[in-house]
Amino acid sequence: MNQPVFRFAPSSNGALHLGHAYSALLNHSMAQEEGGRFLVRIEDIDTTRCTPMLEAGILRDLEWLGLDWETPVRRQSEHFADYTEALETLVEAGLVYPSFFTRGEVRAYIAEAEAEGEAWPKDPDGVPIFPPVDQERSEAERRQRMEDGEPYAWRLDMEAACRHIGETLFWEEDGEGPEGETGIVTANPRAWGDVVIARKEIPASYHLAVVVDDALQGITHVVRGRDLIYATAVHRVLQELLKLPVPRYHHHRLVLDESGRKLSKSANDTSIASLREAGASPHDIMRMIGFELP
Ligand code: GLU
Repeated sequence: MNQPVFRFAPSSNGALHLGHAYSALLNHSMAQEEGGRFLVRIEDIDTTRCTPMLEAGILRDLEWLGLDWETPVRRQSEHFADYTEALETLVEAGLVYPSFFTRGEVRAYIAEAEAEGEAWPKDPDGVPIFPPVDQERSEAERRQRMEDGEPYAWRLDMEAACRHIGETLFWEEDGEGPEGETGIVTANPRAWGDVVIARKEIPASYHLAVVVDDALQGITHVVRGRDLIYATAVHRVLQELLKLPVPRYHHHRLVLDESGRKLSKSANDTSIASLREAGASPHDIMRMIGFELP
């Protein structure tokens, strides 16, 4: 069997908090237990919000927690060509379409539909499903708008993609599924609608970059928070369309704040750096998140 490869893949758009510490420690210890490799990947395609300073802070926190990882660290902002290549495959297959609708237009469209008494469907993150307007445009109109220099994103035609794959998708879940189950999980990608594959201002999206990188880096085990379990359905679709290998998945429990809410990057009181400055030790952090070293 190939050597297992684990990764911790933070976005460098904020400081690491206790939830990230749990995820990083878990990946690292699973890699050690299984005689595997541990990689850190910086997910910084959003070059306006991700900064070298935040990245340096993340790596400092991980080091302080006692982790070590292989270098060089893969920084997504340095690999846009890889994502563009994958996007081109999807364009050639006719499974993505240019999407011109602005946020304001989307809001107005949905408000109008809802005013007529239609409850607009939402994706698993609670975001309204993207309306079918751009998907229904003619080729001629698309070309005209592109020639006119109108900004556009690329969206996956989810219906066409699912039909193209032609089979129900699954993934193997190690440990805790959404309801704590282990085993095979059925993917429900249609619940997301037409997700963004490349953004208007960035030639990639989270979904595209994550599957391309997991494949390029030979990741065998994706260990990440349960908040991303539904996104795995989209990742499974992209893996099938791009003929990429499928890693095993483990979506771990989330570290919650005192009121039971998911921690956020803006909540500074649970950032690793502020806890360290307040005198906490790495062991205190592990105690706080209920992480036990094997
Ligand atoms: N970069 C993502 C985040 O910080 C995690 C991606 C992943 O683990 O697949 O939420």
